[in-house]
Amino acid sequence: MDFPESVKLDAKRRAHYQCVVRRRSVFLHVRHIVPQEEDGPGILDNAAPLCVECHDLHGNDPTKRKWLREARDFWWEHCAKQDADPAGLTLLARFDQLQTDVTAGRRELAEVKTLVVEQLRWAISGVSSASTAQGVAQAASATDVQLSHLEALRHVWPKPST
Ligand SMILES: [Zn+2]
Repeated sequence: MDFPESVKLDAKRRAHYQCVVRRRSVFLHVRHIVPQEEDGPGILDNAAPLCVECHDLHGNDPTKRKWLREARDFWWEHCAKQDADPAGLTLLARFDQLQTDVTAGRRELAEVKTLVVEQLRWAISGVSSASTAQGVAQAASATDVQLSHLEALRHVWPKPST
């Protein structure tokens, strides 16, 4: 059974929009740990947000299912302890959606620019209001995530027609 959209979003949000194996935010796909062909259910417990590379490496290997589930649980727990700013997660969710839209051929440069500007503003305000060096570093690291999103977008963005 395929995952309902709500399960996919939940799985990605819990992983802070990062691949649960490589912990990077590049084109996440929510994969079945036990595949649909083997009646793997479309529920959260069977869901692993993976990047394309990790899916190709591990997604079809039955011997790696237990390991994949453990990697996912570890990352979900790690993210749950991060006390992430909901505004930051919302921006990541919008970026994630944007990647899907671009891949599907729906893209507006203005939309990308708006989102990037909002994310930069959010990072700047986080840096400004931080009260410790750790807080400054954490707020600034949001821009790293954004850069990897942009890098991912760059690969699928249609080339200008000549
Ligand atoms: Zn990955």
